[in-house]
Amino acid sequence: MDRTWDCIVVGGGAAGLSAALVLGRARRSTLVVDAGRQSNLTAHGIGGLLGHDGRPPAAFYAAGREELAAYPSVELRAGEVVAGERDEDGFTLELADGTREHARRVLLTTGMDYRYPGLPGIPERWGRSVFHCPFCHGWEVREQALGVLDRGAEGARRALLLRSWSDDVTLFADGPAELGAEEAAHLEAAGVAIDERRVAELRGPGGSLTGIGFADGTERAVGALLVPVTTHQRSPLAALLGADLREPGPVAADAVDVDAMQRTSAPGLLAAGDASEQMPSVASAVAAGSKAAAAIVGALMTEAPERAGVGG
Ligand SMILES: Cc1cc2nc3c(=O)[nH]c(=O)nc-3n(C[C@H](O)[C@H](O)[C@H](O)COP(=O)(O)OP(=O)(O)OC[C@H]3O[C@@H](n4cnc5c(N)ncnc54)[C@H](O)[C@@H]3O)c2cc1C
Repeated sequence: MDRTWDCIVVGGGAAGLSAALVLGRARRSTLVVDAGRQSNLTAHGIGGLLGHDGRPPAAFYAAGREELAAYPSVELRAGEVVAGERDEDGFTLELADGTREHARRVLLTTGMDYRYPGLPGIPERWGRSVFHCPFCHGWEVREQALGVLDRGAEGARRALLLRSWSDDVTLFADGPAELGAEEAAHLEAAGVAIDERRVAELRGPGGSLTGIGFADGTERAVGALLVPVTTHQRSPLAALLGADLREPGPVAADAVDVDAMQRTSAPGLLAAGDASEQMPSVASAVAAGSKAAAAIVGALMTEAPERAGVGG
């Protein structure tokens, strides 16, 4: 550890790479440490990202890394930050390989762990025929028989939402549906069927879905299934570095609490992307990373005007 970086970006997904681009263009010395497990890697394409609609995620991240190569103050390093602590002049982070790096600012863009129901057949179809975000994947499965796995009010809301993409939508309650009279009436008015048979498994070759198998031995043809998810911090790093986490929201169970410029409650520590987001998307992650980087450049300049020139 023989230098102090202006910023260490922990995580090189959409948020982290976007931040590094802004930091690099502002000539700030920046280390991006990335474990390479972006959450959407299983998907065929990124849905709804302007300029990259339908592009395979891995190609998108490779293009981002390639762009960063033009900026000499940015170093991309494959690895994992496993621990960290605050000191008098910033933060010291420890990587899994034992190296330690020091920085004035740390930006957490570590993404989140997406947790979906434990139904057999979901993992191999995740991000393809089984998904959590109709805005990301609805277009690709439009006009097919679509299902929503959920039994309560949130499931009813998502089933109504899915009607934008298909006239054939079924709420699979996996047991008795738990709906109020108004929700049930809305579903009926929208032509959404409710199926209360116990769900046993998903069927179909490879990553595709052709039907839902029920515990009573019957099956119903379905081409895609929307499932509920909650997102969770991938590691205790945010809390370890002193950031407050938010109360559970509709999606994120423990998002990092940030202000409008992505600053956490811990001075010098910022967070962006899924790690601090209730409505995760690649577009939001790119925007938040960019905003965080601008905040970091501004803060470094006012904090130490004598170092307002090129960092290092
Ligand atoms: C299956 C699936 C499909 C999706 N499809 C779409 C879609 O089509 N369109 C859309 O807009 N959104 C989609 N999303 C949501 C979107 O992928 C996320 O909102 C977005 O990728 C978040 O970006 P991020 O940079 O915050 O996190 P990520 O992309 O998850 O990147 C975080 C990076 O940080 C790394 N990391 C984590 N901890 C550490 C550590 N301690 N040290 C070093 N590195 C670390 C991870 O390995 C990873 O590489 C999808 C999500 C899923 C799960």
